[in-house]
Amino acid sequence: MPTFKAIVIEKADSGQTVALKDFDNADLMEGDVDVRVAWSTLNYKDGLAVTGKAPVVRRWPMIGGIDFAGTVEQSSHPDWKAGDKVILNGWGIGETHLGAYGEKARVKGEWLVRLPATMSARDAMAIGTAGYTAMLAVMALEKHGITPDRGPQIVTGAAGGVGSVAVALLARLGYDVTASTGRPEETGYLKRLGAKEIIERKELSAPPRPLAKERWAGGVDSVGSTTLANVLSMLRYRGAVAACGLAGGMDLPASVAPFILRGVSLLGIDSVYRPRSDRESAWKRLESDLDRAKLAEMTTEIGLSDVVEAGRQIVEGRIRGRIVVKIG
Ligand code: NDP
Repeated sequence: MPTFKAIVIEKADSGQTVALKDFDNADLMEGDVDVRVAWSTLNYKDGLAVTGKAPVVRRWPMIGGIDFAGTVEQSSHPDWKAGDKVILNGWGIGETHLGAYGEKARVKGEWLVRLPATMSARDAMAIGTAGYTAMLAVMALEKHGITPDRGPQIVTGAAGGVGSVAVALLARLGYDVTASTGRPEETGYLKRLGAKEIIERKELSAPPRPLAKERWAGGVDSVGSTTLANVLSMLRYRGAVAACGLAGGMDLPASVAPFILRGVSLLGIDSVYRPRSDRESAWKRLESDLDRAKLAEMTTEIGLSDVVEAGRQIVEGRIRGRIVVKIG
């Protein structure tokens, strides 16, 4: 029986087990496209899945990993043929459908997007779901009319994956970026990515007032909870913040005051079930608007056997920037 190497998560009496092992081709789930996976990545959600800290995995056994880049091996889907270079982000892989931390994946053709012509598969996964989500957040701000002349932008969780890409993108697009971080030792790193000002995470972690001094025209928040509530209270008149994360908690202890007195907007970002046309637009923008030298600066490469330990570190907020995982 042909097999391939994969990080397999299995249910156990005490919770779950996770190990690098051989997986039978015959046990792949339904799909109309087979992909030889070359690269994957580690996102916060992958950390939650491999550590079992949150119920991300909803089918056992599961191959972890919520996104991959690779080459089509065979396809019965009209859009894809053998040899096509593809990316997949989300759609439940690594959660309800076998995921990316394996040399082979069988998926639905409608979940795939084409690898941009000038981008390597490794760069696409250095970007990964975190970077693609940061792009969706920036596009949401643009759609809302938050242009660079409106004023500075705040990025929370700035030294993390979504945060690092958001800082680099916004700076490249001409915005003044304030980066909020709990790791002041990463000031130099964040400035190299393009942040103009760095503030300490604790400035946004006190119990929020309904309205505080107006500071930012917009922002990208990957932290949620008290941090997002503080950002809302500090947005300028008609400002907007794109909310995509919960690294600080899932609650939102906010007041309606910023909405009804300053006309601010809270823009929700979901990357997992985003329609294909939005994904294609986001990847096109990433191809043109993300500085590849900055991407290289924020990226660390690991192998499949390092994923579980790196997963522990990401849920503890100890990973800087992005992790790319070499599969094939
Ligand atoms: P990372 O762990 O790389 O980044 C999160 C950052 O948040 C950390 O680096 C840290 O930044 C900060 N942080 C961590 N813990 C806390 C805390 N307790 N209080 C305040 N700040 C904290 O994760 P990702 O960038 O991969 O993901 C960020 C968030 O976005 C996650 O919640 C993830 O689930 C979510 N996400 C959502 C998506 C969607 O579709 N909506 C898609 C992708 C991600 P620093 O040290 O600089 O303060």
